[in-house]
Amino acid sequence: MIYLDNAGTTKMFEECVEIHRRFSCEQFYNPSALTMKSAEIFREISDAEKFFLGRLGAKEGNVIFTSGATESNNTAILGSLRSGNWEYVFSEGEHPSVFEVAVRLQQQGFVVHFVPLDKNGATDLEKLKQVLSPKTRLISTIFVSNETGAVNDILAISALRKQICPKALLHVDGVQGFCKIPIEMDKTAVDLFSFSAHKINGPKGVAGLYVRNKSALKSLLAGGGQQFGLRSGTENVSGIMQFKKAVELTDMQKNLLRVQKLNALFCENITSAGVKINNFGRDEKCDGRDLQQNALGNGLDNKEKIVSSPYILNLFFEGVKAETILHALEEKGVIIGLGSACSAKKAGNRVLSNIGISKEKIISAARISFSPYMADEEVINAAKIICETYEDIFRRVH
Ligand code: PMP
Repeated sequence: MIYLDNAGTTKMFEECVEIHRRFSCEQFYNPSALTMKSAEIFREISDAEKFFLGRLGAKEGNVIFTSGATESNNTAILGSLRSGNWEYVFSEGEHPSVFEVAVRLQQQGFVVHFVPLDKNGATDLEKLKQVLSPKTRLISTIFVSNETGAVNDILAISALRKQICPKALLHVDGVQGFCKIPIEMDKTAVDLFSFSAHKINGPKGVAGLYVRNKSALKSLLAGGGQQFGLRSGTENVSGIMQFKKAVELTDMQKNLLRVQKLNALFCENITSAGVKINNFGRDEKCDGRDLQQNALGNGLDNKEKIVSSPYILNLFFEGVKAETILHALEEKGVIIGLGSACSAKKAGNRVLSNIGISKEKIISAARISFSPYMADEEVINAAKIICETYEDIFRRVH
């Protein structure tokens, strides 16, 4: 099986299984109990928190561990709500775990602004500027789009927040960028940053939320007051420790170069004229050279910033439904995605249509997402099988 839906989820590192066993069957104690054994577990979690802060480039602040980035996003948004004349700003490119929260807030009478995307799929900075004001309480924007791979300019958004609404909180859904595209909290004005284990070969059901200033966030769950009172409930110790292991095993810079190579290799082997690569801001020809150059920067510097994640690629199958291709490919041992698995059952694609892509085109759009651990041959073969399958189906339906 050639798996090309790594933005949906990833295969867990085998090494995490041993960590799971250790923290479930041996060091299984409740981190909040008063015994020495429990204190050891508590220390493991505190060390993990420090480790994550280091990886996030944050000297201060806290990380709370949650049941998934869906919970991290909900906590960041709902925990930022305040009574009064405040306004809440979201991009149109958000994952449903942010977007649907925003829709509910609007239905409840909060003032909510949705900022459109530019043609490359990034939050339109001019339009963002127009809706920000000293009344803004929260800005929530995705870091890397799970649909298109577009990378938002978090430094520029940080500058706008400092300039126009210094009292606002800036939340970033960093799920598709964490350990993939460089970002350092201390170089930005990000107050809240969500990230999830299962997108980087960790287990499902565990995630983090970076919190710059814990007094700015209200907790959603009433209970035992664990995790600085921000997230009550006994910590998922084994999940947290597996998540840490997954990050330890991830070499972001090496992986970035590897995925850029795989992405370019895939594009080179798309030989069918009807299979279009949608680069959303990348070099039209997708020859890999620009990407290679970008990777040498830190992704934060304006000159060298990464505008599109090489981990995610969008394809259009001209004149054929992407869903038909998806099922035919699975029979041939290739797994692709149609965009966010979380919204796969919903009609249309909100993010692509916001960029201005027509309904007819959206029906034939698919998402390919790479893993740095794939072999060259897998990617070359997948591209060939995709083209053959497309040609075959096109001939049959036309
Ligand atoms: N945000 C983004 C950008 C995502 O891609 C996902 C996963 N599809 C989530 C949030 C939700 O993460 P989780 O599955 O950990 O709840």
